[in-house]
Amino acid sequence: MSRAEFEELFPDERACVEYLAEKRWPHGFVCPDPKCQGRKAWEIREENGLWECARCGRQTSVKAGTVLHRSKLPLRTWFLAVHIVTSHSNGISALQLQGQLGLGSYKTAWLMLRKLRRAMVDPDREPLAGVVEVDETTIPLRTQDDPVAGGQGRSHFGKVAIVGAVEIEDRRYPGRIRLQRIPAYDADTLGGFVEEQIRPKSVVVTDGLPAYRAIAGEYEHVPKVVGKMAAHVVLPWVHRVFSNMKRWAIGVFHGLRGQHLQAHLDEFVFRWNRRRWRRASFDTLLGLSMRLPHAGLRDFVPGPG
Ligand SMILES: [Zn+2]
Repeated sequence: MSRAEFEELFPDERACVEYLAEKRWPHGFVCPDPKCQGRKAWEIREENGLWECARCGRQTSVKAGTVLHRSKLPLRTWFLAVHIVTSHSNGISALQLQGQLGLGSYKTAWLMLRKLRRAMVDPDREPLAGVVEVDETTIPLRTQDDPVAGGQGRSHFGKVAIVGAVEIEDRRYPGRIRLQRIPAYDADTLGGFVEEQIRPKSVVVTDGLPAYRAIAGEYEHVPKVVGKMAAHVVLPWVHRVFSNMKRWAIGVFHGLRGQHLQAHLDEFVFRWNRRRWRRASFDTLLGLSMRLPHAGLRDFVPGPG
């Protein structure tokens, strides 16, 4: 959806209310009270987006359960924020969002972005399956002192460990991914990640760290002993994900800070996993989460490098 298409689809508050109502009741109003299930409702026009069941009097807001519930901001500001966030293929900082929405407060933009990022983790998501590459990497962190503002180009970087997984189809296409910050490279941490994110009986390809031995019972474990061979040769897809993620972190945020690292990783995963589902992303971020059609792995275009 282009900006012009957005303007045409959502010219005002009314259009946003109607969009939410249509998503909530695609076949017309149904009272949420299971004992009533009335099909007729009055819209309470003074209260934006509120409907009252004509049978039992129960009131329902079209905003309930969405990311904009209880927000004082206009619906259209949220819609525009979601549009901006989903249409920027590389993501956006709170400062950029503030500018694009014309918001007076940086904090408001920051809070909106945080809510939208939280909506990026789909609780219904299916575990990875099939052939899955798993590996670890480290990522340098930005400290509180902004190296750019410091003027000297000096900065104090710390490093944190991350584990990643990517589905491979036909040995040629990277599919869905997962990224998680980890405290250590031990069996509990790495084995726990595999168990949580990958369907049992899948083929799990790793660098052969002893920490992965524990998964052998549940999975078909293929340890590729890295030895002298570079890890990006033995596990090319997960390393492509890592390098894309690191470039993204530098490009959008000039490096990531530790405090919100997992939220940023979740955002990257969300964007990667939904490259071909921009429209679905729009609804998901609004909180209108419906089960997405299971994307074929061929729908994902490998990034460069
Ligand atoms: Zn009712």
